[in-house]
Amino acid sequence: MGKIIAIANQKGGVGKTTTSINLATSLAVLDKKVLLIDADPQANASSGLGVDPQQVKSSIYECLVGQSSIKESVVETCVEGLGLVASHIDLVGAELELMNLKNRERVLSHVLSEARGDYDYILIDCSPSLGLITVNALTAADSVIIPVQAEYFALEGISKLLIKIIKSKLNPQLEIEGFLLTMYDSRLRLANQIYEELKGHFGNLVFNTVIQRNIRLSEAPSHGLPALLYDCESRGSVNHMELAKELIMKNR
Ligand code: ADP
Ligand code: MG
Repeated sequence: MGKIIAIANQKGGVGKTTTSINLATSLAVLDKKVLLIDADPQANASSGLGVDPQQVKSSIYECLVGQSSIKESVVETCVEGLGLVASHIDLVGAELELMNLKNRERVLSHVLSEARGDYDYILIDCSPSLGLITVNALTAADSVIIPVQAEYFALEGISKLLIKIIKSKLNPQLEIEGFLLTMYDSRLRLANQIYEELKGHFGNLVFNTVIQRNIRLSEAPSHGLPALLYDCESRGSVNHMELAKELIMKNR
């Protein structure tokens, strides 16, 4: 049974999508069977893997509203062993369509159960909103990775996310896979302080691996490639491979 991991933080621009694309790629390169679900209407994870959201026949939207299944919606990516269920701007409308369902928070969980046996890891790239789609992702997930941007560590925002998860009671088993420091610049004293502060608050829940600020990570998506295929020797590629290995070790 594959492990379902949501990548979430209600703050935008902290590295959720970058982590999703590059962690998923690294896990696949390490011979894991991986499925990435793009659960953000912005569809940046889809385009970042070279998939045009306008061209896919079936996206996560069709799965959520019952017009298609996950298996029918998986598209191959440029990475061997990494499948993608794309997003679509229509996903915004899915929130409204789901609103009247009785088990509206558990739709994604049901949808994914069909595919779980086929993968080692299913990653879900969440949007910054804490709306129904993100609640569905956190309800379906076994654990959550919380990327934290090294320059703007807002404990308040993180706490709100955690409280929401815990209070929801929808998924009492949900574990924190780890806090991940992103866009780390070791030249900045602030970045080091933030790592120490995170460690102080969350201890072992903080990944040992940090993702350094690296221009290749921001360039790669415009070429529709994960960093590993764009520049495999870049810091960004190496950091995400380290992260994948740390994740695998943690879950052995
Ligand atoms: P989110 O999904 O949380 O909104 P993104 O992953 O899209 O965040 O990242 C926001 C922006 O920062 C993007 O332009 C991305 O390319 C860039 N970025 C993310 N991580 C890094 C990094 N480690 N180094 C350099 N740029 C990064
Ligand atoms: Mg994103």
